[in-house]
Amino acid sequence: MSKDNSSKLIETNLIHGGSERSQFWETSEAIYMNSGFTYESAEQAAARFNGDEPGFVYSRYANPTVNMFEERLRLLEGAEAIRTTSSGMAAVFLALASFLKAGDHLVAARALFGSCLYIAETVLPRFGVETTIIDGCDLTAWKEAIKPNTRAFFFETPTNPTLEIIDIAAVAEIAQKHDIEVVVDNVFATPLYQSPLELGATVVTYSATKHIDGQGRALGGAVLARQEFIDEYVHDFHRHTGPSLSPFNAWTLLKGMETLSLRVDKATENAAHLADLLSNQKKINHIRYPHHKSHPHYDIAKKQMKKGSTLLAFEVEGGQQAAFNLANKLETILISNNLGDAKSLITHPTTTTHRSLTEEQRLNLGITPGMLRLSVGCEAIEDLEKDLLNALS
Ligand SMILES: *Cc1c(COP(=O)(O)O)cnc(C)c1O
Repeated sequence: MSKDNSSKLIETNLIHGGSERSQFWETSEAIYMNSGFTYESAEQAAARFNGDEPGFVYSRYANPTVNMFEERLRLLEGAEAIRTTSSGMAAVFLALASFLKAGDHLVAARALFGSCLYIAETVLPRFGVETTIIDGCDLTAWKEAIKPNTRAFFFETPTNPTLEIIDIAAVAEIAQKHDIEVVVDNVFATPLYQSPLELGATVVTYSATKHIDGQGRALGGAVLARQEFIDEYVHDFHRHTGPSLSPFNAWTLLKGMETLSLRVDKATENAAHLADLLSNQKKINHIRYPHHKSHPHYDIAKKQMKKGSTLLAFEVEGGQQAAFNLANKLETILISNNLGDAKSLITHPTTTTHRSLTEEQRLNLGITPGMLRLSVGCEAIEDLEKDLLNALS
C-alpha cells in the first residue's frame, strides 16, 4: 500500500505521491516491466480472479508502476478515480466511447485538437452517436444544441492553437440541468493551473505526452472522474479494449511529474514575458495569451486558470511567407508540432496540425496563414527573447 498522501501539498505529492517501495527500499520508483503475474497456489489465482483477494493479474488491467503514476496524477487532480492509457488520444476515445452508445447525442466545441475532432465527427457517428459541432465560446450555442438524447458535452480550453477560453463553470451549469456529462480535455492548462472537476465538469482527459512528460520522451494519457463513473463505464471498457499504458512509459511519466511544477511554472513565466514582448512588436498583428489583457476572454481566463499557460499564439504581418521566414530564422526555438516541452517549440498550424481543415473552417477558428503557435520552454528568457527579436528583424 502506498502511504496516504491526500493531506500533503501539491509540490510534495508530485514527488512522493503514489510511491510504493519493493523489498529493496529503492529511492526512485521501480519499473515493473512485466505483462503477467504468478500465484502461490491455484486457490490464490482463483481468489484474485473472483475479486476475493486484492492483487495484480495482468498488466492490461493494472501494473504496479502504472498504478504509481495513476495515484500521483489522481492526487494532483483531486479526482476520485483514474485510468491511464497509451496516448492522449486513447484517453479521449476511452472517455467518450466508454459511456456513449448508439442513439446518444454529443455536443462538441469546434476548436478541438484534430484527432479529437475526428473521433467526434467521424468515428462516433459510425457507431450511431449523433454529433453537433458548435462554437464553444458561445453559451447560447450549447443550450440550443441540447436534444432529449444529449448525453455529453466535450471541449478543450484553452483551445489549440488559438487559445480561446471556454467558461467551464457556465457550460457545466447548463449540462447539469439536463444530466449531461461534461468531458474536458485539460492539456493546455495542465492540472496545475485549471481544475475542471472543481468547476463542475464530470470527466477530465490528458495527453500526458505533453507537460507531464514534458521532455519529448513518452506518449501517455489519462481519464479522471468520479469513482462511480469509472466503475460503471470506464473500468471494463479499459480492461477489455486494451489501451493500457506501458509500465516503462508510466515510469517515465512518473519521473516527469516530479519536476512538473518546476518546469511548467518556469515555462509559464517565460511565456507571459514573451507575450508582453511580442504584443509590442510592429510586425506582430496580435497575440493570444490567456492572461494577457488583450485576450478577448481575459476575464474568464483569470477566473478559471491560476496562470496563463505555457503556450501562446501570434499573427505575423505578411501572411504565411512571413510566418515561415520567422520560424526559419529561429535558432534556440525549434520547429516542432509537439508542445508542453522543456524545449521551446514553434509550429505553423495552417500547414501542419490544422492542414486537414478547410480554409473556411480554419478562418472560423481564427487560424490565419500568418499565425504561429509557440510552446514556450524553460530556457533562459534572455535567449528566447533574443531569438525572437532576431527572427523578427
Ligand atoms: C496532444 C493532444 C492530444 C492527443 O494526445 P497524444 O498523446 O498525442 O495522443 C489531445 N488533446 C490535446 C489538446 C492535445 O494537445
